[in-house]
Amino acid sequence: MREIYVNGQYLSEENAKVSVFDRGFLFADGIYEVTSVLDGRLIDFDGHFERLERSMAAIEMKLDIKKEALLEMHRQLLVRNSLNEGLIYLQVTRGAAERDFAFPPVNTKKTIVAFTQEKSLIKSKDAKRGLKIITLEDMRWGMCDVKTVQLLYPSLAKMQAKSQGADDAWLMRDGLITEGTSNNAYIVTNEGVIVTRDLSPQILSGITRKAVLQCAKDLQIKIEERAFTPEEAANAKEAFVTSATTFVMPVIEIDGKAIGKGEPGPIAKKLREIYIEESLKSAI
Ligand code: PMP
Repeated sequence: MREIYVNGQYLSEENAKVSVFDRGFLFADGIYEVTSVLDGRLIDFDGHFERLERSMAAIEMKLDIKKEALLEMHRQLLVRNSLNEGLIYLQVTRGAAERDFAFPPVNTKKTIVAFTQEKSLIKSKDAKRGLKIITLEDMRWGMCDVKTVQLLYPSLAKMQAKSQGADDAWLMRDGLITEGTSNNAYIVTNEGVIVTRDLSPQILSGITRKAVLQCAKDLQIKIEERAFTPEEAANAKEAFVTSATTFVMPVIEIDGKAIGKGEPGPIAKKLREIYIEESLKSAI
């Protein structure tokens, strides 16, 4: 049984509760972060903390817990739950208040919840096999750079992919790929250039994206941050996705068409290897 962090306390799963009036529950009025854990240590905690602050600022919420305290809480969770590999999920909502579209007073106590989830991250069947992707219309709201807990459309899209025998969906606005349901999307052109959507409110600025693009730069691979079409993806040499808990994951099929040889490509494999190596070095 896990110990869950709820507003300053570590509670058993049974006792970890929030109010039915919580605005996270009623309005999806909250922000979250997922930090992966390898070797009992946190990957890119600083990056996740900075994005948490940015996301909160975007919805006019101020984080009233200091970075050091949040780090200490993450470490406590790791120790209390003996977590070696997996993730820590953190959610901050605007707190509980009488139901009203207008925000409650700024001094309303925010709800902070965090829990661990065990998961095998390095050894992954998906990474060996590669993912099958379908493309779907991106029907999310317009502030996709803000990591809110409003995840129903990505969840529907994921189910749509599964119902078609695929693993995940890439979303499309105006005929151009934005990103995956819960990851950033990349292709490798026949010239060996990595192409991924440029940062804008249409995608989430992935913490893993930043680190993996740095790995690619270090390998002297050319990068283009721009939009691309599903047709360009289907004709690419390779494709892959990145996220905190999947690292780099090869994509082998898009809308039923094999990409390249229909198996994980060498650049995706290399980037996965290097990203894991670098993450283990810098984990805290
Ligand atoms: N895009 C979306 C929509 C996501 O949900 C995620 C995962 N949180 C990502 C990209 C990847 O971000 P990160 O590398 O920070 O996990």
